Amino acid sequence: MDAAARERLATPVEFVRGVGAARAELLAKLGIRTAAGLLFHFPRDYQDLSDERPVDQLVEGELLSVRGVVHEVSATSSGFGRSRVSVLVIDAAGHGLRATWFNQPFMRDKFRKGQTVLFTAKPTQKRLMWEMSHPQVTYLADEEAPLDTKLLPVYPLTEGLSQYAMRRCVQGAVEGFAELLDEVFPADLLAKFSLMPLVEAVRKIHHPAEREEMERARRRFVFQELFILQLALSIRRSEQRALPAPPLEVTAKIDARIRRLLPFELTAGQNAAIAEIAADIALDRPMNRMLQGDVGSGKTIVALYAMLAAVAHGYQAALMAPTEILAQQHAQTLTKILEDSRVRWTLLTGSLTKAERDAVLAKLAAGDLDVVIGTHAVVQEAVKFAKLGLVIVDEQHKFGVRQRAALRQGEVAPHYLVMTATPIPRTLGMTLFGDLDFSTLREMPAGRQPVSTYLVDPDKEARWWAFVRDRLREGRQAYVVAPLVDESETVAAPSVAAAFEQLTNDELADFRLGILHGRMPPAEKSAAMDAFRAGETQVLVSTTVIEVGVDVPNATVMTVSGGDRFGLAQLHQLRGRVGRGQNPGFCGVLIGEADEKARERLQAFADKSDGFELAELDFTLRGPGDLFGQQQHGLPPLRIADLMRDRDLLEEARRDAQLLVAEDPGLKHADHAPLREQMMKRYGEALELGDVG
Ligand code: ADP
Ligand code: MG
Repeated sequence: MDAAARERLATPVEFVRGVGAARAELLAKLGIRTAAGLLFHFPRDYQDLSDERPVDQLVEGELLSVRGVVHEVSATSSGFGRSRVSVLVIDAAGHGLRATWFNQPFMRDKFRKGQTVLFTAKPTQKRLMWEMSHPQVTYLADEEAPLDTKLLPVYPLTEGLSQYAMRRCVQGAVEGFAELLDEVFPADLLAKFSLMPLVEAVRKIHHPAEREEMERARRRFVFQELFILQLALSIRRSEQRALPAPPLEVTAKIDARIRRLLPFELTAGQNAAIAEIAADIALDRPMNRMLQGDVGSGKTIVALYAMLAAVAHGYQAALMAPTEILAQQHAQTLTKILEDSRVRWTLLTGSLTKAERDAVLAKLAAGDLDVVIGTHAVVQEAVKFAKLGLVIVDEQHKFGVRQRAALRQGEVAPHYLVMTATPIPRTLGMTLFGDLDFSTLREMPAGRQPVSTYLVDPDKEARWWAFVRDRLREGRQAYVVAPLVDESETVAAPSVAAAFEQLTNDELADFRLGILHGRMPPAEKSAAMDAFRAGETQVLVSTTVIEVGVDVPNATVMTVSGGDRFGLAQLHQLRGRVGRGQNPGFCGVLIGEADEKARERLQAFADKSDGFELAELDFTLRGPGDLFGQQQHGLPPLRIADLMRDRDLLEEARRDAQLLVAEDPGLKHADHAPLREQMMKRYGEALELGDVG
C-alpha cells in the first residue's frame, strides 16, 4: 500500500465527514480512532425493511414496515418525568398508523409534518387503530422513492451514540476512504476462493442492496479472518517442527519391556494412540499431539507408555496436572506400576518444604531423576532438566495456547503430548488447537460400567435420596456436586455449604460426609480427597473440583444439584466420576425449577452417553463460551466469524491456508506480504510466531 493512502486511512475519525469532535469521543469508547477503524466497524446485524405493507394488510406480531407521511406529532407528559411522543402517519391508501415512544421526549423533534418515513416494528391493533411501539425509523426522500437498500446495518453502539448517528459516521468513512484500501489477497487467490474484492466488500457490508450481496461481503471478511488465523496456526506448527528433538524410537524390545509393567491389556484405541505417538517421537522433530478421550477412557496409561519410552532412551519426562489432587492420583498410578522397575521418579508439589523441593530440583538438573510429576505451576517454574525428552500435560485446555511452548529447554525441544477429557467440538479444535495432531480414544476399557442417568424433579428428590442411601448401605460411596461454594445473594443456585448442611442433618444424616471445594487450602483438599479414597467418608460434597480425572472406583452414585448451571460436557465429565469399578454407576441430576429449554438440554444429556456427541450439542446450543473462555485459551477474539455458523468456511480456510503455507512456508513471496502483515499484527504475539520473513 502506498504511504499516502496509509496515512489518509489513519485520519482521525473526528475529521471524517459526519463525525465531528463530540461523536469522535464516543467512537473512541468503541476503540474506533481512525477512518480505517470506522470502515472495519462491521454491523452486528441488519434490519430487514423488505416487508413493507399497506396499513390495511398488517398482521399483529410480525416484524413489518409501513411507509407513510407524517400527519401529526404530539407529546404528552404525565408528571413523574414520564412522557409519551406519538406520531400519526397516513399511508398511500389513506389509512393511519400511530407510532409511540415512551420517555423519549427528544423523539418529538425528529419528525416534521409532511415528511415521508418508514416505520419498522411488530404492529398491534388497538380498537381500530394500528400502532407501533418504538419502531425503527427510516427517513425517505418522498412517498414514491424506492428504498435503495432493503437491509439497514445495525452497529454495536455505545451510550450516547444513536444507530442513526453511527450509520452517518460509517457512511462518511465509506464514501471518503474505502477506495484507498489495498487488497489483502493476491488476485489469483481472490479468484480461487471466490472472494468479493476488499473495497467492494467494505461498501457492501455497510450498505448492501439486498441480502445476497450482504452475505457475499460478509463471507469475504469471515473467510479472511479464519484464513489468517489458520495461516498463523499452520506457520506456528511448522516453526515448532523445525526445532530438533531427540528421536526416541520404540523398538520391539523397549515395547516389550514397557508392556510387561502394565497391569492390563490395552484397548484397541489405546494401542492405536500409542502407535501414533511412537511414530511421532521416533522422529528428530518434536511431537505436538493432543490425546483426546472421554473420562475413564484410559489416557494415563498411554501417557505412561510414552514416558517410559523416553526413559528407555536416557531422557527425562515431565507429567503436569492442573491440580494437586490429580498430580497425586497420577503418582499413585505410577507407584503401583513402577513398583518393580528401576525408573527414578518423584512427585513435586506445592506442599514440599523448601529443602525437599531444592533436593528434587538438584536431582532433576543433575539427571538423577527420570520422571517428575507435578502441577503445571510447580513444574514449570524454574525447573531445570538435565535431558528433558518428553512433556505431558493433562487437561491442556485449562492452560491455554501460550503456555504450550513454555517448557522448551535450550535448542532441543522435548516431545509434547497434551491430554484432555473435555471432548472438543471439531470446529473449536481446529481453531484453538489447530497446530496440534489429534489422537482420540473412543472406547472404554473393558469392565467399565455404564452410568444410568436420571433427571430428578423436585417432587422425586426424596426418592432419589432413598436410592442413594441404599447404595451407601451396600458399601458404595457417593458424590454430591453443587455449582457454588457458599450461598449467594445474587445467584439462585445450590451451594456446597448449604447442601452439606442439609444432607448432614436430614437425608444423609446416618452417613459420614466430607466436603471439598476450590477455596480450601491444598492440604485440606488432599486430606478430604484421601479420606474419601480410603472410604473414611462415604459421601463427598463438592464443587466441580472433582470434575477432572479423580478416580475412586467404589464411588458409584453422583448427584448433581443445579444441573442447569452446567454445560453438557461438564455434566458428562461429572458423570464419568462414577461407574469406574465393578459396580454400575448412577447419576441423578436435580433439575429444580429448570425451564423448558434447560430441561430439554438435560434430557439430551440423560439420553446420550457419547461425550463427543454431547460436546457438539453443547456447542450448538450454548456456543463456545462455556467450554473455553477467551482468557483461558489466550487467542485474540474473532471479530466477525462465528464458529458455529461459519463451520464450513472454517474448514475451507484451514485447507487453503495449509496449502499456501506448504507452497510458501514463510509467506516470503511479495504477493503474500499483506497477508503476512495481517497475520503478524493479529497473532504474532499471541502465538509467539518468530519473524517468519
Ligand atoms: P482418563 O482417560 O479419564 O484419564 P484413566 O487413565 O484414569 O482415564 O483410566 C481410568 C481407569 O481405567 C483407571 O482405573 C485405569 O487403571 C483403568 N484402565 C485404563 N486402561 C485400561 C485397560 N486397557 N483395561 C482395563 N482398565 C484400564
Ligand atoms: Mg486422567
